[in-house]
Amino acid sequence: MSPAGVLVLGGTAEARRLAAALHRDPGFTVTTSLAGRVAVPRLPCGEVRIGGFGGADGLAAWLRGHGTDAVVDATHPFAARISANAVAATTAAGLPLLVLRRPGWTEGPGDRWHRVPDAATAASVAPELGDRLFLATGSGDLPAFAGVDAWCLLRAVDPPPPPLPRRHHLVLARGPFTTDGERALLREHRIEALVARDSGGELTAAKLVAARELGLPVVLIDRPPAPPAPSVTSVPEALEWLAATLAARR
Ligand code: NAP
Repeated sequence: MSPAGVLVLGGTAEARRLAAALHRDPGFTVTTSLAGRVAVPRLPCGEVRIGGFGGADGLAAWLRGHGTDAVVDATHPFAARISANAVAATTAAGLPLLVLRRPGWTEGPGDRWHRVPDAATAASVAPELGDRLFLATGSGDLPAFAGVDAWCLLRAVDPPPPPLPRRHHLVLARGPFTTDGERALLREHRIEALVARDSGGELTAAKLVAARELGLPVVLIDRPPAPPAPSVTSVPEALEWLAATLAARR
């Protein structure tokens, strides 16, 4: 039997781990798709394609043209547009879709979290909590903070496009970050409140641990609604689902 073709919509550590596992398995061929947002991306094992598909129709056409048997949406929990496109495109192409998404974070003892629904609300809540903010959000959320008077620390892999907060300092860095490093950063810049998205996962949780240790408030932006598709939280579960689903279709 020929190997099953899996398209992994990537850009996350989970997607790279899944691609590595599928690449090792002779039952699969794997292609990972990256948006092309980062100038020098971390490349996964297997085939890689880079750049948008041109909406849901473009993605459906790509799936039909590349002998794809299943799609795994392993994109970042806040990448809502590509996730919606994946649902529409797999429906149109008649292919199974799985969402691989790490769970969100849970508030624990010592945390001072303020959950908000979106970046705009975060931009109105955070300045009430401190005059020196660390905006540990994605670059796409920064325009929501363009009107704030507070001083803002920004961190990104590549320089974010404007508009940006009027008074800011930009650190160019790529995670994962350690708790020691995050604590030192918060102290160095005398941060009074942290703004982050509920991305979940261990790789980006160090800033929340550091904020808890320093007693700092955190404004946590909730995830957009999950896409309407079967969903798992780990790579082993995704492999199991793929094996079962593709066996049933053959
Ligand atoms: P988005 O708003 O959901 O997507 C915007 C457009 O970018 C999509 O309509 C699609 O263009 C293209 N796109 C997004 N992900 C793609 C992928 N994996 N392969 C091909 N095209 C893709 O996404 P985003 O928030 O800009 O995130 C872009 C990528 O960065 C995602 O792959 C995500 O996993 C990764 N990432 C995002 C974040 C974040 O905070 N949002 C954090 C870490 C990593 P077309 O309509 O032309 O196909």
